[in-house]
Amino acid sequence: MAMRRVAFHGRHLLSSPHLFRRHMSTEPMAALDRIRNSGLLKTQGLVGGKWIDSYDGKKIEVQNPATGDVIASVPCMGTKETTDAISSAYSTYSSWSKLTAAERSKALRNWYDLIIKHKDELALLITLEQGKPIKEALGEVSYGASFIEFFSEEAKRIYGDIIPAPLSDRRLLVLKQPVGVVGAITPWNFPLAMITRKVGPALACGCTVVVKPSEYTPLTALAAADLALQAGIPPGALNIVMGNAPEIGDALLKSTQVRKITFTGSTAVGKKLMEGSASTVKKVSLELGGNAPCIVFDDADIDVAVKGSLAAKFRNSGQTCVCANRILVQEGIYEEFAKAFVKAVQGMQVGNGLVEGTSQGPLINEAAVQKVEKFVNDATSKGANVILGGRRHSLGKTFYEPTVVSNVNRDMLLFKDEVFGPVAPLVPFKTEEDAISMANDTNAGLAAYVFTKSIPRSWCVSEALEYGLVGVNEGIISTEVAPFGGVKQSGLGREGSKYGMDEYLRG
Ligand code: NAP
Repeated sequence: MAMRRVAFHGRHLLSSPHLFRRHMSTEPMAALDRIRNSGLLKTQGLVGGKWIDSYDGKKIEVQNPATGDVIASVPCMGTKETTDAISSAYSTYSSWSKLTAAERSKALRNWYDLIIKHKDELALLITLEQGKPIKEALGEVSYGASFIEFFSEEAKRIYGDIIPAPLSDRRLLVLKQPVGVVGAITPWNFPLAMITRKVGPALACGCTVVVKPSEYTPLTALAAADLALQAGIPPGALNIVMGNAPEIGDALLKSTQVRKITFTGSTAVGKKLMEGSASTVKKVSLELGGNAPCIVFDDADIDVAVKGSLAAKFRNSGQTCVCANRILVQEGIYEEFAKAFVKAVQGMQVGNGLVEGTSQGPLINEAAVQKVEKFVNDATSKGANVILGGRRHSLGKTFYEPTVVSNVNRDMLLFKDEVFGPVAPLVPFKTEEDAISMANDTNAGLAAYVFTKSIPRSWCVSEALEYGLVGVNEGIISTEVAPFGGVKQSGLGREGSKYGMDEYLRG
């Protein structure tokens, strides 16, 4: 965890010369003003409905990865603030869980309406603190809001069961009840959607929540929480703490009042949280890292395959858990695909996400760029060829050139691990069996993609892939109506859809 605890000076932001470049209306300063004017620039934690600072006054700076400028500073919280947030969630649980489903549904629906009403400000905030292009940020707001809308409806459909009793004078009922207080820990790559995908079903079921957003992207979480309060979600039902991640995590894990941990993030941290949940036997959901194969067969429609694999690889500059991490291409189509794919990648515009036309923003931090460099160097040292990009972008900061690497094989880091950056490794294969064997040769199992015109092959390969989600001739596969989640070490439990409710219920 990289702490940035320097105090924020407004002058720093005002004096940055590059804020006055062209496209002034879409540049950071104007964007920040617009967010501030809407009242959604919240820079304190939320505990029991009150906006608070950290008890020792420490702060973390939130930076714009596209410019390096400080956007705001937020409290660096730890054990004490988290303990108070848990207490507040615990005391609110008794009233929130007793509301009727219709009452909870209405509050959630109001929240959804407010998120949509403020979609532009929320999208600007996402682009400012996370870096993704504004078009993608708007897409995230719609996607994030869709979970609140969907679960506002599901709140009314929590059915139990009646089981025929073995004795004639008995009746057996299964009653579904909320699990209790939930601790939700979320990553930076989807600052809104990874929160609403958890908080939506939790609140719908009658749980109350303590959310810890990433230190890199707390502002979107705080703005969304403010809208939740405005929507009538009672103080204490949704609390936000941020700062010292291990301290906050430990406080959530150790508390006997927290009955569920839901986490999206790296596999390493997920394993720690799973282990830490054992001492108080909490219910656990984990959405962890992926290593998605994208398999392009000889019989694929090449335009569909290029468009789909481009979308699957380069969304959020390669920083999503479902990003195509290995593009496996059958020998008969390899050269043709590589040529068309490189041409498409060349057409992508790298830059500040607020500037119109940008399709590739910066990476989240310097460590992310160094990881990408390490993976590319490892591949070239073992015989792969960089056929496009392969360097830091001339824009500097954490921009990296959209990159295509050919002739990647099983021995390379690009094959074995999640690169989490804008690097597309092309891996040639001969037969369907080879492709399945390579695709499954990993401990991850989140998303996979298959491009083929053969219907029998699409079924056969999809079923042989050890993955939670498989897209066929499609590169964008997430939706609130379908269950999302991994197998093997990509996680436990499902988010979204009617199955997402089960994670917050007992009975
Ligand atoms: P990360 O380092 O695991 O961080 C995720 C969250 O955990 C952040 O809020 C982080 O806080 C917090 N954290 C870190 N150490 C902790 C600890 N010891 N105790 C408690 N919390 C702790 O992951 P990331 O780099 O933000 O996200 C990228 C990873 O998430 C990738 O592997 C990606 O595949 C995965 N991901 C998975 C899904 C999915 O649905 N399966 C979706 C999105 C992302 P700080 O940031 O404040 O340090």
